[in-house]
Amino acid sequence: MAIAATPIPRTSDLLDLLRQIVPPQERAVELYRRLLAINELSGSMNSARNIDGLQRLLAGYFNECLPGDSIRLCIVDGAKYRNVHLSGPEVTFGEPPASLNQGIAGSVLKSKSPMWIPDMHASRRIRKFPGNGERSYARSIMVLPVSAMKRVVGCLEMLSSYPNRFDEIEYHLGSLVAAHLSSALDNILTRQELANANARLRDHDLRLTQLNEKLQQLAHTDEATGLFNKRRLFERLDMEIARAKRYGEILSCLMIDIDDFKQINDIYGHQAGDQILKQIGALLRRSLRITDFIARYGGEEFTILLPRTNSAGAYRVAENLRSTFMSHDFALPTATIHLTISIGVACCSTFNHLNAQQIIFLADSALYRAKRSGKNQACFADETEGKTESQDFVKSMSQV
Ligand code: GH3
Ligand code: MG
Ligand code: MG
Repeated sequence: MAIAATPIPRTSDLLDLLRQIVPPQERAVELYRRLLAINELSGSMNSARNIDGLQRLLAGYFNECLPGDSIRLCIVDGAKYRNVHLSGPEVTFGEPPASLNQGIAGSVLKSKSPMWIPDMHASRRIRKFPGNGERSYARSIMVLPVSAMKRVVGCLEMLSSYPNRFDEIEYHLGSLVAAHLSSALDNILTRQELANANARLRDHDLRLTQLNEKLQQLAHTDEATGLFNKRRLFERLDMEIARAKRYGEILSCLMIDIDDFKQINDIYGHQAGDQILKQIGALLRRSLRITDFIARYGGEEFTILLPRTNSAGAYRVAENLRSTFMSHDFALPTATIHLTISIGVACCSTFNHLNAQQIIFLADSALYRAKRSGKNQACFADETEGKTESQDFVKSMSQV
């Protein structure tokens, strides 16, 4: 027998029933006690923060009021039920239904109406539900929908090994518990959903940040050598020039071109040339300080920024690099290669007011002078010479 859902029974219904009960006094006292317990339960359920808290409160109520009967709460959790055992023997329920539409819970959820079977052994109705074999010892069953404002959030299953265990009074009391439970459960589920959505958002945000960082890195990196690219070079150069001017420091810039690199491609092929370029990147990184900035300008040309380094310091770095390259064995599968480099050096200070384009142009001009003068050497840009505090040193060194 199915009864239409009544969220909260009317007091007059309960009183009508009370009048029919013998001895009236005892039942009235019992009913009064149950109503008080439900009243207390509803107050504490509203302040429960999670399902575990709700379970403890409901278990306390059912253990006291329906001792020995099996009670559980089936909560809709995605496409399945989450079963929360409340009191009595757990085995009575058997396996939970595999999907939301199955079992007695599925039927109650679909119809949004309670299901109340006074004696399962006498009922033909129960046979149509799959997986009820293990329930066969249960004689009476009452399943009440637990529905919040807009959705059915689950159902309350009550099973007893006695027939006719759940009468109309139990139905009304159970409905009262289900009604209070609905709003408490809805609050908890809504809070959980919000927390989950927040966690997903945070996760999404983190992945976006990581992706952005990766993109930034890719946008600033030369794929072949792993060094910074030309775009990053100009960004950094602007920043370093501004800093050098603000603090009255000298920034040096080295433009490097590999001597006769075309021959490597011509003799060993372009793939070998690519391998050597990679090794050049690694060698530059190993040979310079962590504060120095190294970029692949293009082709086999590299730019190095040396912050807080005057022309004397820049010259030392250039000479070190030149000798490092000369003595380095670049390895190919079939050969060992030796290379030399030509270097153009330009310095930017508060005296010469160079901008990024000008400093690169000057370093490049010095580089071509080094090439024209026979390669494998470092040359200073004319505009830079004579304007730094170590002009004599630089002049003497560049003539070595
Ligand atoms: P120079 O001493 O005058 O610099 O002579 P060079 O042979 O190095 O000639 P140049 O600098 O004018 O030309 C650079 C050569 O480097 C030309 C090109 O074949 C080679 N090259 C540039 N970029 C790459 C690259 O990404 N991979 C390879 N394999 N070769 C490159
Ligand atoms: Mg070259
Ligand atoms: Mg070149």
